[in-house]
Amino acid sequence: MSDDCIFCMIIAGDIPGRIVAETDDALAFLDANPMARGHTLVIPKAHRQRIADLSQEESRAVFDLVHELTPRIESAVEADAHTVGINDGEDAGQEVPHAHVHIIPRFEGDGGGPIHVAAGERPDLSDDELDTIASNIGE
Ligand code: AMP
Repeated sequence: MSDDCIFCMIIAGDIPGRIVAETDDALAFLDANPMARGHTLVIPKAHRQRIADLSQEESRAVFDLVHELTPRIESAVEADAHTVGINDGEDAGQEVPHAHVHIIPRFEGDGGGPIHVAAGERPDLSDDELDTIASNIGE
């Protein structure tokens, strides 16, 4: 628990949250400023800033809850699809420094785009550069 973390305060019950699911290690609640009806955040109960900071157990707990909730949200708000995304780090747009997965219900003709719009300009990468990146990640 981090004393000045708004999501830790929701976990502790110190500030209200519209909680939709809870397990031993993860919590899900409605986003207070939703991008769509049913926009839900899934968080680890432990205060972890980035995805890489989660233990394997915490990571499983978060993604298991995402897996469980997507069909429930879809049926609750009669969505057609979801965008599931994480702003993992400040430069990716993370504002709340407690790791969280956004589940954003999507509706036919809602005017939104695919997750590809999240990144900046596409880089022009040669085959050699792609090979190097793949091998560096694989290490
Ligand atoms: P991010 O930019 O990925 O860090 O997103 C943070 C999200 O947390 C935003 O979508 C906010 O609307 C949401 N948020 C911030 N404070 C609260 C809160 N007290 N309860 C629920 N959602 C919140």
